Order: sequence, then C-alpha cells, then structure tokens
Amino acid sequence: MDKYEVVIGLEVHAQLNTRSKVFCGCANRYGDPANTLTCPICLGMPGTLPVLNEEVISSAIRTGLALDCSIRPYSRTARKNYFYPDLPKGYQISQFNDPICYDGHLTIETETGVKKTIGITRIHIEEDAGKSMHGLGEGTSIDFNRCGVPLIEIVSEPDMRSAFEAYAYLTKLKQILKYLNVSNCNMEEGSLRCDANVSLRLVGAKELGTKTEVKNMNSFKAVEKALAYEINRQRQVLDAGERVHAVTLLWNDATEEAVLMRSKEEAHDYRYFPEPDLVPISVSTEKIGAIRDQLPELPEARSLRFKTEYALNDEVVSILIAEVEFANYFEATVRAGALPKSAASWVTSEVLRLLKEGEYELASFPISPAKLCDLLNQIDDGKISNQAAKKVFEWMLGNNTSSVLEIINELGLAQINDEDALGLYIAEVIAENPDEVRKYREGKKQLLGFFVGKVMQKSGGSANPKSVGELVRSSLENA
Ligand SMILES: [Zn+2]
Repeated sequence: MDKYEVVIGLEVHAQLNTRSKVFCGCANRYGDPANTLTCPICLGMPGTLPVLNEEVISSAIRTGLALDCSIRPYSRTARKNYFYPDLPKGYQISQFNDPICYDGHLTIETETGVKKTIGITRIHIEEDAGKSMHGLGEGTSIDFNRCGVPLIEIVSEPDMRSAFEAYAYLTKLKQILKYLNVSNCNMEEGSLRCDANVSLRLVGAKELGTKTEVKNMNSFKAVEKALAYEINRQRQVLDAGERVHAVTLLWNDATEEAVLMRSKEEAHDYRYFPEPDLVPISVSTEKIGAIRDQLPELPEARSLRFKTEYALNDEVVSILIAEVEFANYFEATVRAGALPKSAASWVTSEVLRLLKEGEYELASFPISPAKLCDLLNQIDDGKISNQAAKKVFEWMLGNNTSSVLEIINELGLAQINDEDALGLYIAEVIAENPDEVRKYREGKKQLLGFFVGKVMQKSGGSANPKSVGELVRSSLENA
C-alpha cells in the first residue's frame, strides 16, 4: 500500500462554438488568416463597450444543468487584470465571486471499475485572449482572432486520486460537452484546455499537501503523462524529507518533463473587481426551465436506452455512445431499417476501424446510414456473404452514386445458393483432395471446415458458407 494519497483537481477551459464572439459581432471561427476576425471591441480600443452574447449564457447554463449544477439567477462579470501582449485591453472579462453555475458533479469509473462522483465547484464564463506566435519572423507575432472567443471554465473539486481518474474525468467531461454541442472540444486546436492542481499527502492525513499547478497539456495523453510525472516528482521530494513548493509548471511534450514557469511568490495578483461596462447577468426561472427542456439525451440515458431498446451488451454500447456522432450514425442506420445487432456489429468494427485509421471522419463519411442499412439487409437476407459485403463496403467508400444492388451485380458478388453450381465446386474439391476425404471418412470430422474453405475459395467468396457446409457433409457422407 502506497503511503501517499494523490489529490488532483482540474480546471478545464472550453471554447464555446457560438457563431459570434462573446462581446462583439465578430465571427467565432478557428483557422482564418491572422487578424481578420477583429473589430475595435475585441481589439480593446478605448471607448468601446462590450455587449454580452446571450448564446454564451445559454451554453453555460446548458453545461451547468448537464453537470447537475445549481444555476445562479443573478451573477456578475469581473475584470481580471494582467498585462500580456496578446491581451490588448490589459484585462480579461471573467467571473470571480458568484459564478453562473456552481455545485455540480459528474460520475466516472475508476481503475477498478467502481463508479465515483467528482464534484464540480463552479462553471464561469470568460473571454479568451489572443495568441502569441513565436518564431514566424523577427520577434513575436500576435493573432487577435482569438481575442473575445467565449470560454467556459469548469473547475472540479480536488476529488481525483490518480492520473487515471483525471483522465477518466476529462474523457467524460468532453463526451458531455460534445453531446451538448456547446464546444468542439479539440485539444490540438486549443478549444479544450486543461490545467491540473496536484498534491500528495500521507494516507489518512486530513490536511491537503502543498499543491503545484501543471499547465500546457495539449492532449489527453499529455495530461496522463504530465500528471504521472508530477506525482512521481512530488513523491521523490517528500521521500527525501523535503517540502513541495507551490509552483506553476509547464509540461513539455517533446522532452516529457514539467519545467518551472513561476513560483507562488511571483504569481499574479489579478486585482479582480466588478466589470463596470456590463450589467449583471440575470436569468429567470422560466429561461432555466426552457433550457432544461431542450437538453439533448446525455450519454448515460442513451447508454441505458441502447441496452434496453436494441438489446445490446454493455461493451458494445459503451463503444457506440463514446462519441455523439458515432452514436447518431449507428442509430440512423437502425432507423433506416437495419437490424440493431447487425448495425452495431458493423459500425463498431468496419466503420470504427476506418475512423481510427484516420483517413475518414464521420462528419464527411462517404457511406450514409441509409446505404449502410441497404448493405446490412443484403447480408441479413442471405443475398451476400459477410466477406462479399466487405468488398462492397470498400467499393462504396470511393463511389456513392451506385446503389448497393448495382455494386453487388457489378462486382459479381451475389451469393451462390444454387445447389448445382455449388455441387460442381464440391465435386472438384473432393476429387482434388483424396487424402483428406479418406481421413474424413475414417472419422476426422473436423476436416469439414477445410473442405468448406476450399469450396469458398473456388467460389471467390460468393458461396453461402452455411449451404456449403451442409452440401459438403452430405456429399462426403453419402458417396
Ligand atoms: Zn470583434
């Protein structure tokens, strides 16, 4: 048993996918040429006034409700003051006391498969800063497109006890944000960012140990590695009888080390004060009710429904619901008329394989659910073999104009159930393999598979394996 207990809390920033920015009408988009999505407001020109985008409030409340938070009917924005080149106003509009959502939770599964509740301290809204780009030319360039992009910051309680639990929390949170369609949650593009507070204490101790903050983790993998690194570092410090210092560390993905960014003595004092240019945010009970009524089906409810409505097992369902687009694709295939079991098995094998290989994305996947349904129905009706269906599927990836039947005919894949045609193949196989025939007749019945394989080969995969098995057996036994 480890003598230390690990304590982790996460602060997650998610960029909201609203059409416009939080305080101006500029488009909220990623990847445009630098400094083309700006105006005097988001550039922080003197004399301009912010106007709060109502969608931002709705998205924050949606998220809060999905995470079982209480929603404050009345909350304020605050100025967080600091100087940085990518922050032209010299302050960021955020929320300090009384954030819009507070006191929620979500449930994760621990290493041992036990369900565990992680508290959500608060969710507040704020604006993103611009982006400094080093190494493009002389000095540093700044892109202000990101200035004023709306963010929600989701702060957890220090309830996680391992890097694994932190990873599970982040995975679950991302899944819920995607189901809610409030953020794209792309860590590589920075639309989901995570900072961690980590401390160790002796098992059984009541007081928390000194915590450090780890920043700059740009992928889920990086979070897991950075936390494992920092836990190990603190363990060594404590084992050596020294004290952990309250510092902020930057994770370097290339060297897989966390390097010192600043010590607590140098830490910012943001001098928060109420934002004088914005009226308080007031949210009526009716509005909260309306947002609650429009919440989509969330992962846990969907998981339960897939198990009961489609009679699928836990393992398959957890793969299907992991990503909302994936669950939608599966369900659209079923709604088009495919058998749930066939659709689940095909989607979690063939479709998932292609997505994992990275060449395709579901948003632009060339095979529509209706087309996949046509193909699956051909298999389930015994018109083509599973093996032949894989060929049709490959073909459909590059050609979405022909119908499934046209492709089957074009590729000559219609399953041969015709006994005469199969009989010829079987006779050939029997003639070509006298030794195996003798052994089979002497009692080595497991050779049946060998004969079926040979016949399937001769038919180019288009024979129906079930019919072949029956015919081969009767040929061998009755001759
Ligand atoms: Zn603007």
